[in-house]
Amino acid sequence: MAVEKKAKRPRKSTTELRRLNEISMLDTARYFFDVAAERLELEDWVRKMLRFPKRKLIVNIPVQMDDGTIQNFEGFRVQYHPLLGPCKGGIRYHPDVTVEEVEALAVLMTWKCSVMNLPFVGAKGGIRCNPAEMSKVEIERMTRRYAAEIAPIIGPDQDIPAPDVYTGEREMAWIVDTISMHNHSFMPGLVTGKPKVLGGSEGREGATGRGGFYVAQETLKHLGMNFRDTNIVIQGFGNVGYHMAKYCFDQGAKITAVSDVNGGIHNSNGLDIPKLKQHLKDTGSVVGFADSERVENKDLLELDCDMLVPAALENQITEENADRIKAKMIIELANGPTTLEADRILYERGVFVAPDILANAGGVTVSYFEWVQDRAFYFWDAGTVDHMLKRYMTEAFQRVLGMHLDHGVEMRTAAYMVSVNRVAEAARVRGLYA
Ligand code: NAD
Repeated sequence: MAVEKKAKRPRKSTTELRRLNEISMLDTARYFFDVAAERLELEDWVRKMLRFPKRKLIVNIPVQMDDGTIQNFEGFRVQYHPLLGPCKGGIRYHPDVTVEEVEALAVLMTWKCSVMNLPFVGAKGGIRCNPAEMSKVEIERMTRRYAAEIAPIIGPDQDIPAPDVYTGEREMAWIVDTISMHNHSFMPGLVTGKPKVLGGSEGREGATGRGGFYVAQETLKHLGMNFRDTNIVIQGFGNVGYHMAKYCFDQGAKITAVSDVNGGIHNSNGLDIPKLKQHLKDTGSVVGFADSERVENKDLLELDCDMLVPAALENQITEENADRIKAKMIIELANGPTTLEADRILYERGVFVAPDILANAGGVTVSYFEWVQDRAFYFWDAGTVDHMLKRYMTEAFQRVLGMHLDHGVEMRTAAYMVSVNRVAEAARVRGLYA
């Protein structure tokens, strides 16, 4: 195992520590930006510029509902300074969407794109609505009106939206159609996550899990281990958790526990992932799978294992349970699964954490490939997409690991340092006007 220099983060008062557990995703992103800026000794003007996004657009979306009434929905698009290239980020439909949440996600997307060396900065969009209570036609009218409202600030060279919570290929196709019709030309490079017939990419569905698998592979190499000798516990068995489980299982790893919203299952000899996927298809849950015992979701995180993979929700590893986590390494596939205080505890206990902005960046990386293919009108096969994904994930991991070892900072700070440094370099050569 490689010997690592350790630098302690400054200790905080207990009041401060309590506050850290309650802070929002935006505060967390700003906290790590500030830590990275301090370590990189960024100039004051660069810090001031990079700490905030460039633009927050709020639009009103009047929609005629199926019963003839008109309902107004509030929509958002937040964009970061386009220092490295166009903005990139999803659009979510949810009753709780706020401009603050969208801003936090846009900023996080910037650090994620930058750490991966993509020619993008972050953006995010959303509409405050409850799509579960709307008909398909109502969602289509709302989507097309939202697309028309944000049209002046999006485009293949400006800002490229993608699916997020409760949006998918269908919504992306409507957005491409609406803006292409306004411009009298077909513009597939306008969004990613489209149906393949409109220029969507091979390999997008499993990309985040596949990217996480490559980060896990590099982590194991760094720690002198391999998949065959590794026990893995995965929280969440959706798109990301399932694909991660499948790729690790195929390499001989033992997946000893997984969970979904209904609870967890455990077998210390390892679960058969293809059979478990079939069980999930048949029953709607992982719970009740043959040859497994039931485990509560909160206990699952504390099971004896080598690798823990949070792939469900944010704030799962906290000050409360961080001391009891037995894993040697954590591959963060969910966004923000570890609170700030838990992060500090894990670091002091020597747990290796592959942070979310690196570990779950496989999805945006394949989105980048989709945009590249759309711009060239030349489409890659699945093998080429996977080959390029492996290259991008491995190189990003090595950049972050290098920063971690050279500066004696934990992996999350190292990832932010790599990322912020690249954006800062662009700011320096472009200047404040950008
Ligand atoms: P998904 O909806 O397909 O799956 C989520 C899984 O989490 C489901 O199995 C669900 O049952 C489970 N879950 C929900 N609540 C749970 C709980 N309390 N305890 C245990 N499991 C619970 O979502 P996904 O696309 O797999 O995304 C998972 C995470 O990865 C999210 O945090 C998402 O933001 C993040 N992420 C996803 C992508 C992507 O490309 N899909 C990219 C980056 C980050």
